[in-house]
Amino acid sequence: MTVWDELVGQPEALAVFQAAAASELESSDASASTMTHSWLITGPPGSGRSNLAYAFAASLLCRTQGCGDCPDCRQVAARTHPDLATLTTERVIISIDEVRDLVEGSYYSPSVSRYRVIVIEDADRMAERTSNVLLKALEEPPERTVWILCAPSEADLIPTIRSRVRSVRLRVPSIENVTNLLVERDGVERAQAELAARHAQSHIGMAHRLATNDEAASRRAESIELVLAMRGVHDAVMAAARLLEIATDDAKALTDERDAEELEYTRRTLGIAEDDAIPAQMRSQFKNLEEQQKRRATRSLRDGLDRILVDLMSVYRDVVRIQLGVDGDLINREELPALTTIANARTAEQSLAALDAISEARERIASNVSPALALEAMLIHAIRRLAA
Ligand SMILES: [Zn+2]
Repeated sequence: MTVWDELVGQPEALAVFQAAAASELESSDASASTMTHSWLITGPPGSGRSNLAYAFAASLLCRTQGCGDCPDCRQVAARTHPDLATLTTERVIISIDEVRDLVEGSYYSPSVSRYRVIVIEDADRMAERTSNVLLKALEEPPERTVWILCAPSEADLIPTIRSRVRSVRLRVPSIENVTNLLVERDGVERAQAELAARHAQSHIGMAHRLATNDEAASRRAESIELVLAMRGVHDAVMAAARLLEIATDDAKALTDERDAEELEYTRRTLGIAEDDAIPAQMRSQFKNLEEQQKRRATRSLRDGLDRILVDLMSVYRDVVRIQLGVDGDLINREELPALTTIANARTAEQSLAALDAISEARERIASNVSPALALEAMLIHAIRRLAA
């Protein structure tokens, strides 16, 4: 399996990157070469932006352009390749110091491979001042350095950076694409893979989680049931409290898994066995990790709430489709009787108003309003609109 095999439903983007990996950097005549120093991969969350970034990185660092099996490819997959630097942020904003460190590292020559590759997974999370630090590095790229930035859209970057990068846009993969990936890569049974891909609305990471983690799947099912069963303001208040609990559990499950992996990894790289005490001179490293994980927990709850709200939107989206008579591709097909009951009791305008209420709650939670308040306000609003 080569590094490209996991990238589903993106034939155009793949062709661009494969051609680039197979060609040479010609700094004298950039227009004639398919390879260039700075790339931007854009696409909606879950479309596989970072997967593609690392596949491209592997193909640049591997001796056979991404075989998927050699030490270079494996080190890229583990993010431990000596010529690969990455920036993934657990915070809302990437700090200027993090970018300064990356820029400094970008001036070294590659140590073992053709290139030095730097991946910034959330390039949209940079303040303008930070972007300007990066811009300097992009304007005068060292000979063998390649930058790969990822962001939801080009508009998320300042124009001066946009003009320095070659941009490649990903599409939302089809449900069929994601289903096939889960079947072929993860060995998931086809019916279950289709269900997960559909419920995740083609978000690859979410689909993988729903297909392989029973608890995550049942948390989604419960939040959908709650909303389908809401009949009045009292139900809405109770549902809001329970949804917050579900999001908290979901976020905790996700961060616990990652925290444990990171701790294990840090111990391993520092050569400390699992039962050994941490030597005094290494404590600061673990303290940093702990702080980083705490910050991530905060963002993780917001992400968890957002996942729930996206699921709730899928309910009202389905209701609207039933009301408009275009119900061929319902996301929550299993809930057809309950969806039909709601659809028959309301107008499409009311369902659209409920969708607006959820969008508004997503924005408010993203902008730091107390999640409990935003959820409650949203559900009460949705139920009033539906009952009006
Ligand atoms: Zn390889």
